[in-house]
Amino acid sequence: MKYILSLDQGTTSSRAVLFDQKGQVVALHSIEFPQLFPEPGWVEHDPYDILQSQLDSLKQVVQKSAVHPKDIMAVGITNQRETTLIWDRVTGKPLCNAIVWQCRRTAPLVERLKQDGLGNVIRDRTGLIPDAYFSGTKIQWMLEQIPGAQERAENGELCFGTVDSWLTYNLTEEKPHVTDATNAARTMLFNIYEQDWDEMLLRAMNIPALILPKVVDTSGIVGHLKKEILGESIPVAALVGDQHAALFGQVCFQSGMVKNTYGTGCFMLMNTGSMPVRSMSNLVTTIGWRLDGKPCYALEGSVFMAGASIQWLRDEMKMISTSAESEEVAKTVADSGGVYLVPAFTGLGAPHWDMYARGTIVGLTRGAGRGHVVRAALESIAYQSRDVLDAMIRDSGLKPSVIRVDGGASRNNLLMQFQADITGTQVLRSMNSETTALGAAMLAGLAVGMWTQRQLEELWLQGGQFDPQMDGGLRATMYNGWQRAVERAKDWAEL
Ligand code: ADP
Repeated sequence: MKYILSLDQGTTSSRAVLFDQKGQVVALHSIEFPQLFPEPGWVEHDPYDILQSQLDSLKQVVQKSAVHPKDIMAVGITNQRETTLIWDRVTGKPLCNAIVWQCRRTAPLVERLKQDGLGNVIRDRTGLIPDAYFSGTKIQWMLEQIPGAQERAENGELCFGTVDSWLTYNLTEEKPHVTDATNAARTMLFNIYEQDWDEMLLRAMNIPALILPKVVDTSGIVGHLKKEILGESIPVAALVGDQHAALFGQVCFQSGMVKNTYGTGCFMLMNTGSMPVRSMSNLVTTIGWRLDGKPCYALEGSVFMAGASIQWLRDEMKMISTSAESEEVAKTVADSGGVYLVPAFTGLGAPHWDMYARGTIVGLTRGAGRGHVVRAALESIAYQSRDVLDAMIRDSGLKPSVIRVDGGASRNNLLMQFQADITGTQVLRSMNSETTALGAAMLAGLAVGMWTQRQLEELWLQGGQFDPQMDGGLRATMYNGWQRAVERAKDWAEL
């Protein structure tokens, strides 16, 4: 038996998952690491915490599995996206802590770019909506704030990288300074059409080109694991952003295929093939993966509050004691009784984009109870996902026949059935809940010839099927109610 090792470096934990030739999980190890909040709205990670937790989970998983390292054919790396690091090219020492994607500190720099009329340039070339999430202004901030950094960057003494670059640089013998096209596509510096760094945007953010990594394919050998780690120099053969890995792990290889991950938030991606779709609905255009120099494009939309609203019911409202209990409580009523919950706790994302929207419960009657509110919260996850899906269909002209799902809240059968009902689309749940890690493993396995792309399709196993059962008239009425509820939530906060 041969194996692939997947490193899944996430926002709160570093995971390592060992897969066998059938794509089955042989062993998994996960280590949490500290989140640093030095000021309100700021989020940082210590680069050595990222590295050490990833290294430890890598060693642990191999030890646990009792697999001999010589049977591990390749390592794939998938990572939290956009999080920004800069280190010294010679010593490898980081300039400062990593600025995490969630960090809002560079919002004023983004405003400046928009005032300078670069909003449309960013949309047109990078596919992104200008935002502090993306790496560009985070690099700019580090170079501006750390004494001497700008000059050192101009002299070629510094390396910028996202987490994939940082891990590759530190875990391999060759120490290459690389990133893959999916990670590059989240920097707000990469022209996704020309597949190259954009000089105009670099100039606008005062970032010297010398600091940037070389952009490589998503699948391909970038180096070899240092021998001291496992005693073998195993090829590192894939770098890929986490959501892109999940799209691949869900085997959404054809244009029009969609996956939705139900975690704290929801991340929906649609494969649009060789066609980059420019969204009219505030979705992001990105690169699903790049194989043999050819990008496969994708549309991406996210829902800010998905599982988070269930946590809110549990922690703040005390209506349930565990997230899983939401299903039982929702089942105590036949429907939500006309109650809608719009969880716009931090505003509304795509396609609405209203940062002034706030959470709302509408349609309450004297008979409304806990069951209705809990059910409405679950339904809100499905309604918001439909909002994103409809936008994708409108923008791309592609109509998916199936939504492939994963993530913690996808275990909720009531929610999945409602998702199928309210979209009129079949929902298929993957048997493997580690689709992100699986995607990275598949991409690495592809690079070393362990699988062909055709064989990868056979690795996907179904763990649940939900067919739409709702009558079309009822679907339209219920969705119309949701849209009216969203209108009530909009434009509420006075900032
Ligand atoms: P993340 O990777 O964002 O931390 P996970 O994929 O681990 O998320 O999913 C956790 C989220 O899913 C939590 O917000 C939790 O409330 C929600 N969740 C987990 N199980 C269920 C369930 N059975 N029903 C509804 N929500 C659930």
